[in-house]
Formats: sequence, C-alpha cells, structure tokens
Amino acid sequence: MVDRPATSDPSARILLVDDKEELLTSLYHLVTLYGYEADQALGGEAALKALRETEYDVVLLDLIMPGVSGHDILDVAAREHLKCKIIVVSGDSSFSGVKHALHCGAFDFIKKPYEAAELIATMETALRQVRLESQADEMELKLKESEKLHRFIVHSSPDLVYMLDRNGCFTFINDRIQTMLGYEPEELIGRHYSELIDEDDLDLANNLFNERRTGERAGRNVELRLRRRRGETVETSRSTSVWTELTAMGIYTDATERTRDTFIGTYGTARDISERKEAQELINFQAYHDLLTHLPNRALLRDRLSLAITQARRNRSKLATMFLDLDRFKVVNDTLGHNMGDRLLRAVANRLQGCLRGGDTLSRFGGDEFTLLLPEIRIRDDVVVIAEKILDRLNQPFVIDGHELFVGASIGIAMYPEAGETGDTLVQNADIAMYHVKSRGKNGYQFFSEEMNNQFSSRLNLERELRNGLIQGEFEVFYQPQVSLRDASIRGVEALVRWRHGERGMITPNEFLPLAQETGLIMQLDEFVQRQAFNDVAAWRRAGLGDLNISVNLTAAQIEQEGFVDKLMASIGEAGLEASCVELEITENTLMQDMEVIIPRLKEVQKLGVRIAIDDFGTGYSSLSYLQQFPINTLKIDRGFVGDIRADETGSSIVDAIVAMARGMRLDLIAEGVENRTQLNYLREHGCDEVQGYLFSAAVPADEIEALLRENAFDQLLVSKPVAATA
Ligand code: C2E
Ligand code: CA
Ligand code: CA
Repeated sequence: MVDRPATSDPSARILLVDDKEELLTSLYHLVTLYGYEADQALGGEAALKALRETEYDVVLLDLIMPGVSGHDILDVAAREHLKCKIIVVSGDSSFSGVKHALHCGAFDFIKKPYEAAELIATMETALRQVRLESQADEMELKLKESEKLHRFIVHSSPDLVYMLDRNGCFTFINDRIQTMLGYEPEELIGRHYSELIDEDDLDLANNLFNERRTGERAGRNVELRLRRRRGETVETSRSTSVWTELTAMGIYTDATERTRDTFIGTYGTARDISERKEAQELINFQAYHDLLTHLPNRALLRDRLSLAITQARRNRSKLATMFLDLDRFKVVNDTLGHNMGDRLLRAVANRLQGCLRGGDTLSRFGGDEFTLLLPEIRIRDDVVVIAEKILDRLNQPFVIDGHELFVGASIGIAMYPEAGETGDTLVQNADIAMYHVKSRGKNGYQFFSEEMNNQFSSRLNLERELRNGLIQGEFEVFYQPQVSLRDASIRGVEALVRWRHGERGMITPNEFLPLAQETGLIMQLDEFVQRQAFNDVAAWRRAGLGDLNISVNLTAAQIEQEGFVDKLMASIGEAGLEASCVELEITENTLMQDMEVIIPRLKEVQKLGVRIAIDDFGTGYSSLSYLQQFPINTLKIDRGFVGDIRADETGSSIVDAIVAMARGMRLDLIAEGVENRTQLNYLREHGCDEVQGYLFSAAVPADEIEALLRENAFDQLLVSKPVAATA
C-alpha cells in the first residue's frame, strides 16, 4: 500500500481509456490508490462519449484499440481544442506512433508496461500544468474583463482622458474627443498636444506639461482652451475653441524615484467648462456693461481710465475725457415713450461708436449721458476734431419708426493732466464743462477750465443755492427796451431774470436756468418774474410812461402745467393789465416739444388777447409748413443772425428770408442782439419794424428803465445815417 500523497487532488477529473478490461481496472486501482478519482472508458467509442459529456483534466489513453483508436481520439481532441492533457499509455513505442501522438498534442508518452510511480508522476505533472493553465485563463479572463470595464469607464467618461508619450504625443485618447472637439480618437494618436491647444493658451499648456516632466507633483488644474477640429466650427457655428479644465500627471517607470530619466509620459483629463465660462463671461459682461447699449458702463470706464492715466503719465502724453449729454432726449422719451427712447439711445451709441478710433472707450453713464475716453492725444486740436465730428453726426436727424428725431448734444471735455490727474476728477470736470455748454445754449463743446470750477462746483450745490435764492428773494427782473424803428419810441420791454447772489454777485440766467428747468424750479421762478413784470409795467403805464408792452419768456414746463391759462390770465388781471399788451416769448424748440398740449393752450391764451412771439427764430428745427398752424403774432430774429450782419458783407441771407417770411405770413418782426449801426441800418432797410439790443440798452434794473422811458432818447440813433459802423 502506498500512502496517498499529500499533493493528490481528488477533484481532478481523470479519464482512463483502454480496450482491455483488466488493464483498465488495474490502471484504475493504481490511480485511486494515489487518492484520485477517475472515470473509465472501455474502448474508443466509450472514450469519445465520455469526452463529449465531461470536461477532463487528464486522459490516460491507450493507443491501439479496435474501432476508434487512440490516434482517432487524439485527432478529435486536437480538432475540437479539448483542454484536457492526454497522456498516451501504449505498448506501441514505434517512433512513428510516438511522433504522431505528440504531433496530435499528446502531453506525454508512457510505454507499457509502465512503472506506477512514473505514470503517477507524469499524470501529476499534467494536472499541475492544467491547474496553472486554468489559473492563467482565469487571470486573463479577469484581466480582459477588468480592461473592458476600464475601457468602458474611460470611454464613457464625460471628461476627456488622454495619455502622452515622453515627447508630448498622444498615445491614447478617449471617445469624448469626438463630441468635444470633433476628432476621431485614432487620428490624434502620434500627434503632438500643441495641435489641440488654443494659440493664446499654449504657454500655459507648455508650462503645465513641462512641470509634469520634471516631477512637480502638486496637482494643479489649468483652465485653457482646446481647439476644435478645423471645419467643425463652420457647420455647427460654434466658437473655434472649447474652454476646459486640464489636469496632467507625469507617468514614471519608477514610482519611487521620480527623476527625469524615468519620465515616460503624461496622463490626464480635460473637462469641458464652456458653460461655466460662458456664465462667468455673462456675469462679467453684466457687471461691466450697460445692457441697453452693450457699451462699457461706469465701472469699466473707471478701470480703463485709470489704466490710460497710468500709461499717459509714463509716456508723458495727454488724454481726453468727454462727457456727453443729449440735448433733447427727454423730449423724445416723454412724448414718444420709453421704447422709442431706448431705440434712440442705441442708435446714438452706434453713431458715437462710428466717430471713434480703435483705442477709444465709449461708455454709457446712465440716462442720456455718455462718457468717452480718448487716450493718446497729441494736441487739443485732435480732440476738437472728434468733438466736432460727434456733434455733426448727432445733429443729423435720427429716423426711428418713421419719426424724424433731432437730438444734438452738449459735450464737456477734460484733458489729462491739465484738467485733473485722476479718473474721477476728469469725469467730474468734463461734466462741469458739459454743464457750461448746456447753460450757453446747448449743442456744442467746451474744454474744462479752472474758472468753471469756481462758479458752481457741483450741480447739487447750485440746486441748493437756487432754492435758497428763491426763498431769500435774490432774484430780480431786469428789462431790456424794444425799440420801434418807425419812431424810435420804446414800444415795450422784455423781462429778463437776474440772480443777485450773496457771494457771487450778479448771475445771468444761462448759468442757472438749465438746472432750474431740470429741477422744476423754473416754474416758481417764471411765476415770480411774470408777476413782478406785469406789476412793474402796469405801474409805468399808470405813471404815463407810454403804452408799454411787456414780453416774458416761457418754458414748456410752465405751459404744460395744470391750470396754466387761468393762472396766467389771473396774474395779468391782478396787475391791472390788458391782455393785449402781454407778449409771451417761446422758442421754436419749446413749441415743437409737446405740441398736442402746448399748441391748444397757446391758442387759448391768444384768443384771450395775449400775443405770442417765437423767440430765437431760425435756430430750431421746425419746418415752415408747421409754423403756419401755430398761433403766432411775432417772429423774433435770433441774435446770432443779427450778429452775422457785417459792414463788409452784403448782409445775412437768413435775415432776408425771415423778413420775407414774416411779411408773407403777416407777422410782426423784431430783431434781437442789435449791437451796432450797421446791423441797425441793414435791418431797417430790409423792413424790420422793431429792434432790441445793446446798441440801445442792455437789460437793466426797473429804475433804470424808468429813466430811459422818461428820456426816450433813442431817436438820435435813427436820425443820423452812420458814416462808420461802431463796433
Ligand atoms: P433771450 O430770450 O433770447 O434773451 C436775450 C438775451 O440776449 C438776454 O440774455 C439779453 O441780455 C441778451 N442780449 C440782449 N441784447 C443783446 C445784444 O445786443 N447782444 C448780445 N450778445 N446779447 C444781447 P439773458 O438775459 O442772459 O438771458 C438769456 C436767456 O435766458 C434768454 O434768452 C431767455 O431764453 C432766458 N431767460 C431770461 N430770463 C428768463 C425768464 O425770466 N424766464 C425764462 N423762462 N427764461 C428767461
Ligand atoms: Ca426772449
Ligand atoms: Ca432770443
């Protein structure tokens, strides 16, 4: 008896094949003696059947059998790739028999009669082999499965996964590349990473990959843009690059010693962060832009301005800040609605943009205010050119929805370094200069100067002082005579307001009227002026100083005011005046502003006897055909046109035209701003009935007018024909 060897494996599946029963039985005894289990097949047919039914690890096969021989079984095993190890146990030890057996894949050959130990040893070798192989198979299977799994994970990853070799060329890239950049993974293999990086981010990428190379271990994500495959963007109209968050890790042969020598490549991921970037960009855009016009806003202008100042300081160069305010935006907005107002603002922004150079910044400050930053200015004249260009462009009408809109603008300019060394001062001073343009009749530009600052440092100050002045009674009415050219008599006076300011002395209306209008204080002011003027004139008439008329200036706000007609008539009546000696001076632009409300009201007061004069006639935008529908008694030729009449020239064609028009429409005519005899004579010869101007008298306080009325000495000016014009 032999002890069952420790190595025996009862689970091993063994098949014994022989056509001789006693041989088969003795083989069986031997095998079981060593602790194995085995099946027996008596003859080839039984063997084949057993092999088809069961998977064996080892087969001990007799070669020479009738019918199905051992050779046949070897053939079948080879053909059907049976996994079992076949050990041939045969009496036929001829060379060809052994050769055939081994050729057909027999594991070994044992000659009968066999030695028990040899047979068992051979069988156990075969079993070990089987076990090893099946372990290997299992491993391979597991590996395959795991690889499949990883492949699946990698390829279905929402991120790009890639591997580079030591030179930076792709050795692997997952399928995500298709949807992300439009490449097939295979076409990138062997190509360098730089082909995928947006040009602007190439330095960033090079740094990152070099870092991995030299063994920097700190995991750092870099945000950079990857380029889409050429042609991809055309079809899909997406941008040419995709924002990604890129990671890269070095791969080293020696995990412990990360040196240059062991670097073999890089692996990493790239995540599409376009959406986040877009959101970020939108947020940034909103923080720094005006959403209506898409222009930079205050904050961005501020940034750019401070940058530009730094640069100008370094280069010792100049820069200009312009503050631009539209002159008639409010009218459009109030009468045609916000939608039109918005469209107008966009159109204005477009035109302004068209006036600028590459490095200039146009920003919207809110409302109808724009700011321009003009860096790299050599001389003031450069700015003048731009300002004039802008005014010219904005004076062309805007046509929106069939409406012809006239805006025009006032521009204040502050130059660095003269008008301020910080962005805030520059903008503030440009604003002050702009305000001066407004107060001098709008539609123009002006450079900031220190003396402007001395006048009213801010609108807020001015507004406070205005209110205060009204309460303290600092306002006075001055009068300027209107002289008839027929008999040199003072036909009437125009009431012009003055502000006798506690510290600043006498202030003319141009400096405070725009703000009075903006704040609505104008109504209080005008009511005061009118009451005072009506009372003064009534008193002079009673004193026998002549059948004086009184002209007062009106603004749109006053006429639009609730109860305008009643209030006006009441204050005329309270003074004891006839309505017919009151003339309201209204500028052309006021008339055009809110026609539906203003025209009927003026018609009403005209019916009650009050006269209406168009002030500053010729400067507005109204068409002549419009004028015929208006309630008008008098045209007042703007002093600008009168000023154009000079001795060396034939005269002013505009004056001629207005005179002809007044005749045609049977309107009275008065010329203002007459400063010399040349102008006087020209006007007289061309049929103007009445004049007003410094040649006769400036606007003077009430008591001085009284004296003028008593003297009534203007006839001398009319009697002598001039030899030379007085300046
Ligand atoms: P306006 O109605 O066109 O008044 C004529 C302006 O020309 C006055 O300026 C007057 O002093 C000035 N002027 C008179 N003669 C001459 C001259 O020969 N040469 C020159 N260069 N100028 C002359 P002022 O008083 O400064 O008034 C400016 C504007 O302020 C007025 O223009 C008028 O539109 C407005 N205004 C004045 N007083 C009032 C008022 O009480 N209420 C309202 N709503 N507006 C007023
Ligand atoms: Ca006037
Ligand atoms: Ca005028």
